[in-house]
Amino acid sequence: MPARPMWTCAACGRRFSVPRIRHSCGTYTVDAFLAGKPEPKVALYRAFERSVLRLGSDVFLAPVKTRVGFQVPSRRSTKTW
Ligand SMILES: [Zn+2]
Repeated sequence: MPARPMWTCAACGRRFSVPRIRHSCGTYTVDAFLAGKPEPKVALYRAFERSVLRLGSDVFLAPVKTRVGFQVPSRRSTKTW
């Protein structure tokens, strides 16, 4: 069974496994999330990000205001680690 297509919010561009799900629209980036963080923490995050992204081409970053999610579409829902 193939993964369910993701729904993309037209206002903020975030992707969700459930169409038209309620959320707080916002445009967030990893770079903005990391801005001002100590360099050792940024380097640790970047190493972790590289490791996670090597898991598969369907893994994508899902930054929000307080965290960076790593998500992958699945048959039932989007997994967030
Ligand atoms: Zn939105």
